[in-house]
Amino acid sequence: MYRCALAAESWRDRYRGPVTGTCESCGREDEPLVHVRRYYVTPEAWDTPGKVEPAGTEWWCFSCRTHYPHEPIDEPVGDG
Ligand SMILES: [Zn+2]
Repeated sequence: MYRCALAAESWRDRYRGPVTGTCESCGREDEPLVHVRRYYVTPEAWDTPGKVEPAGTEWWCFSCRTHYPHEPIDEPVGDG
């Protein structure tokens, strides 16, 4: 019982924002981070259409979120 409560607590700490840490994109430290899915964007060229490919999930700082294509991930809150 006690162990379950502890696990639930750390799970909630991990997923409830804001999270402060090291940005996984630029490596900046002590930044408020948001869990995002990175997208790789290939610009349109004369012989290929542009495309957007989803990549893995990372924790990003504000600066990276303003500069690079991504999608925020809705974390489960765990109160239900
Ligand atoms: Zn960053």
